[in-house]
Amino acid sequence: MAECALLKGCLFFNDKMPIDSALGKLYKNRYCLKDNSQCARYMIASTIGREKVPTNLFPNMHEEAEKILKENKA
Ligand code: SF4
Repeated sequence: MAECALLKGCLFFNDKMPIDSALGKLYKNRYCLKDNSQCARYMIASTIGREKVPTNLFPNMHEEAEKILKENKA
């Protein structure tokens, strides 16, 4: 239950990605301010590097994140 270490500079958190504001707020509360371990962006950044996070990947896109992680481990 803590703020994500990647808040600063995160495209999602800093409103650089198009998303309905209500949904964006919900995600920020759920992922960015409470539990980043479930965030798709964080999963990639913390495993293979921040530069590998697609600019259009939202925090709830877990399947896409797993696919990217699998591809980059191969
Ligand atoms: S979207 Fe994910 S990586 Fe970005 S600040 Fe929120 S929890 Fe951290």
